[in-house]
Amino acid sequence: MEIIVLPEEVVARIAAGEAVERPASAVKELIENAIDAGASSLRVESVAGGRQLIRVSDNGAGIPGMEIELACKRHATSKLRATEDLQDLSTLGFRGEALASIAAVSQTTIITRHRDDPMGISLRLNGGRVERQRPIGAPAGTVVAVENLFFNTPARLKFLKSDRTEKRNIHGVVTRYAMAYPHIAFTLKQDEREQFRSSGRGDLADVVAGVFGRNHFKRMIGIETSSPARIAQPTIAVRGYTSLPDLTRRDRSRIALFVNGRAIQDNSLSHAVTGAYEGMIKSGTFPFAVLLISLPTEFVDVNVHPTKAQVRFRDPSQVFSTVQRALRQALLEADLDEPDADQWRTDGFTNEAIDYRRPAPSFARTATEDSFHDADLGYIPEAADAPAKPRTLPILRVVGQIGATYIVAEGPAGLYLIDQNAAHERILYEKICEEQRADSPLAAPVSDSQTVLLSPEHDIVLGECAGVLSELGFEIESFGPHTYVFRACPQVIASSRLADVFPTMLENLSRKRKGREEAIAALAAVAAVKSGQILSMEEMQSLVAQLERCASPLASPSGNNTLIRLTREQLALEFRRA
Ligand code: ADP
Ligand code: MG
Repeated sequence: MEIIVLPEEVVARIAAGEAVERPASAVKELIENAIDAGASSLRVESVAGGRQLIRVSDNGAGIPGMEIELACKRHATSKLRATEDLQDLSTLGFRGEALASIAAVSQTTIITRHRDDPMGISLRLNGGRVERQRPIGAPAGTVVAVENLFFNTPARLKFLKSDRTEKRNIHGVVTRYAMAYPHIAFTLKQDEREQFRSSGRGDLADVVAGVFGRNHFKRMIGIETSSPARIAQPTIAVRGYTSLPDLTRRDRSRIALFVNGRAIQDNSLSHAVTGAYEGMIKSGTFPFAVLLISLPTEFVDVNVHPTKAQVRFRDPSQVFSTVQRALRQALLEADLDEPDADQWRTDGFTNEAIDYRRPAPSFARTATEDSFHDADLGYIPEAADAPAKPRTLPILRVVGQIGATYIVAEGPAGLYLIDQNAAHERILYEKICEEQRADSPLAAPVSDSQTVLLSPEHDIVLGECAGVLSELGFEIESFGPHTYVFRACPQVIASSRLADVFPTMLENLSRKRKGREEAIAALAAVAAVKSGQILSMEEMQSLVAQLERCASPLASPSGNNTLIRLTREQLALEFRRA
């Protein structure tokens, strides 16, 4: 595409600010330009931490001679045309600012030849002003040499760290991009010494090993998963390497995250990474991780910050949990592969071996589907656009069910036994409370006009709590002595026989204060899955995933434990491994 100066209204929509704060940020912008230009080979040189010289050479498409001056103007870009394009960016650059900002604070020389041009061109700028432009013989591609960065902005010069630190930052930028683009051959030379080189053969393992060193790389495990397909949610793919719990650092500097080929800084995502190691590594230490995350461009907004190092996800919690689950699973499996951890492999509770390595099943049911039958759990999978509730339990991995009553799960700190009935009561209780707070109880019409005959005692209870029951979504009409016909009932019991569940609810309420909370607890109690009910893997996973985000996940509304935990230490003690 031709380079143009962006129209005012598009400029106004671009995250404004300074993208070039230090030598490493200039290097980052120049590398991104080379990648956008389709380079397969990229060479970075720096002298004195980038203060004296930064030179980035690529074999990409080059800049047409006619456009070279324009390329150095502010908001001049070949990558964006209109505001709508911001939603669907496939290039790393889009603001048309980097060359202009770098040139404004340095002495910059650009030598470039577009692959369709017979002749190259050399352009020299001093503090942003064109000093010299002339044709030159050059291979296809571009060389940008930036000398004396910040020479005319003493304030910014003062903020630079020592040469050593700036040098390390540049090294960090180059190696990160080398890992994100294993198909591009990177070379880094600093102060005349070659510091890093990647082959460009496309092998991520090779590049990661080159960056962290073979010995460290041996302590890393591969990650390759995608999120389960869910309605209205994009597929998120996560690929990369993460360290075993015995390889850590005292800072987060070895966690490299990429979203759609862009190196990003994201506190929440880096928490997702460290959280996956909860209970496995000492606090204050951090793993090594290189994670390439990809998802459809329309689900990420990159126009958040001038340095483009931050992104905004449309559904941050989905990305968070996909990343954390991917790591957690890989770590647990690696743990299983260790010869001294054999007892984890055999399932001590059921006779069947459960293959929990199969991919997580998808939740195919939609919220509108009303084909719930008795064995179904009367809950609806989390809607994609529901605001994410904070996680209150670590991610648990369901292993199986015992006695048709307890769900066996594995978590960071050991083994969890979950009472399916108590847990589901808790989930439904919180869900209904939330509906009440939002003033939108989910009610379902009762089509076959079920009539219910109540005992005189229950009839009295009904009289006392008719108000709260109607707030919960019950529509009840009198139909003769002690007899009622139901027009609507709360969604959570829509599939139940009201003649069974309604008297149980009233019985439950007869011994209590008849307030709203009590009524919700009674409703949750009749709607919840019972003990003795065999659950599918999907149902257990869904139940556990919902419990993980309950505000008070540890007890049912009536105060019973929803789960008990056996720590690794307890298990080790029992097996005399301590
Ligand atoms: P942006 O990358 O946001 O478009 P820049 O100021 O970084 O803005 O670059 C301006 C334009 O110059 C780019 O859109 C591109 O057309 C051209 N350009 C810059 N660097 C290169 C390069 N290394 N190879 C080819 N074209 C380049
Ligand atoms: Mg750019």
